[in-house]
Amino acid sequence: MRPSTIDTDILVVGSGAGGAVTASTLAAAGRTVTVVEEGPWVDPDALDPFSIEEMVAKYRYRGASAALGAPVVAYAEGRCVGGSTEINSGLWHRAPGDLIDEWRNTYQIDEFTPDTIARYSERIEDDLGVSRLPGAPPPSSAMLERGATKLDWRAVEFARVFRYEASGRGTKQTMARTLLPRAVHDGAEVIPDCQVLKLLHHHDRVVGARCRRHLDTGQDEVLTINAEHVFVCGGAIQTPALLQRSGFRANIGNGLKLHPTIKIAARFPHPLDHGDVPMHRITEFSPHLSIGGSQSRRGHVALALAESGTEHTEAMEDWENVSIYYAAIRSDAGGRVMAVPGLRAPIVTYRLTEGDLSRLARGLVHLGEALLAAGATELYPSVTGAPVVRRPEELAQWWAAVTRTNANLMTVHMTSTVRIGEDRDRTGADSFGRVWGTANLRVNDAALVPDAPGVNPQASIMAIAARNCDHFLAGA
Ligand SMILES: Cc1cc2nc3c(=O)[nH]c(=O)nc-3n(C[C@H](O)[C@H](O)[C@H](O)COP(=O)(O)OP(=O)(O)OC[C@H]3O[C@@H](n4cnc5c(N)ncnc54)[C@H](O)[C@@H]3O)c2cc1C
Repeated sequence: MRPSTIDTDILVVGSGAGGAVTASTLAAAGRTVTVVEEGPWVDPDALDPFSIEEMVAKYRYRGASAALGAPVVAYAEGRCVGGSTEINSGLWHRAPGDLIDEWRNTYQIDEFTPDTIARYSERIEDDLGVSRLPGAPPPSSAMLERGATKLDWRAVEFARVFRYEASGRGTKQTMARTLLPRAVHDGAEVIPDCQVLKLLHHHDRVVGARCRRHLDTGQDEVLTINAEHVFVCGGAIQTPALLQRSGFRANIGNGLKLHPTIKIAARFPHPLDHGDVPMHRITEFSPHLSIGGSQSRRGHVALALAESGTEHTEAMEDWENVSIYYAAIRSDAGGRVMAVPGLRAPIVTYRLTEGDLSRLARGLVHLGEALLAAGATELYPSVTGAPVVRRPEELAQWWAAVTRTNANLMTVHMTSTVRIGEDRDRTGADSFGRVWGTANLRVNDAALVPDAPGVNPQASIMAIAARNCDHFLAGA
């Protein structure tokens, strides 16, 4: 590896939801910004959404990571320019106002009111384009609405970070399409294929970062970036891992929150769409339990059917009639992220409580009720050995089936590993993301969200990140 050096005013580590807001806001204010992204640049139009090729190119470890515990919770993160916004479903839900109040009081967060966060959310919505489908929802989404209506439950169509043409064709407004090009237009440099290995510091000041950059020639080089200010935006798992590797450990990585999610592969007597994800959510039991739909390409259907641990050959042959739905909970449990010397990936743990397992069983049964009401004929739960259900009276068998050994859980929502607030005993950073004990090191991503929001987190992350940037610009 040959060494090279770059000097910058502001170094942003990671280019996802938090990093892109940070880079674009600070570059627009005239600051010199360098963004380093571990993953590659992939043209947003190059790959089919939710395809295997996309998983290989844009996901960390091709989507296969796990929080250890009983049960294990599989999780996925983006690893490319634009981060997880390139692979997510774009569902947009502002942080609930009552939770903002609760977090402010619990962690003593300054200038953190529902109005403030709503104002920033609105600014981002205007900026990116957040809208509902211009026409009728696809069948996989309509099934959720139909099931909820039959049961007299609340269901809503969520807005998404999408812009629609007059033809109805929608384009997800990922960070690689929107804020990152804007940051570059305003003078920022984005360096892909470049992993920050360690932050360099002198007393309470971070002076830069040591990186490993993969070159087009196939070789790696050591890149040193000298910076006046550093914003770490690697996501709720990688951010605490990098901070720990760099010697920052106080309340870093120990408050991990997830939305544990249990699934059903539902077979219908007719084909469903498989190119998109359902936009409807059943909100009857929100915020502690939400019900929605997942990516359901052929490979996803195969995996979901296999997770039931029962015979599913016939259902797989009929996969175009099968779609995957989920119930996600707000969990009492917490987890940890631990960087371990010699290991490339951090160890992540999460221990569900008995209450969480009971909520998941309830979620599974309610989801089953909705899908049968919508006309599904066979339900395969992601619980090894649990019976396939065909009639509502059979659903009760699932209550006892959801156990620590049998439940196959996953999540794509990870938060809260560097909480913000003035309560130094319980937070890793001040009210605006400056890591305690440092003068110029800030976190600005999912790690800052003080608890699992019970809704899709991208809107909360972007609003909090934009607020923190304004605070930085006002004071720095
Ligand atoms: C499959 C999937 C579907 C989702 N669906 C939705 C949805 O519909 N709605 C919603 O609101 N949320 C959704 N989410 C969650 C949402 O996308 C994330 O919460 C959000 O993007 C997190 O933002 P972030 O900035 O914290 O991290 P990310 O967006 O994950 O970005 C972090 C970036 O930092 C890079 N990085 C990490 N460490 C380093 C390092 N050391 N050096 C350099 N670069 C580094 C990573 O490679 C990554 O690109 C989904 C997530 C996934 C994975």
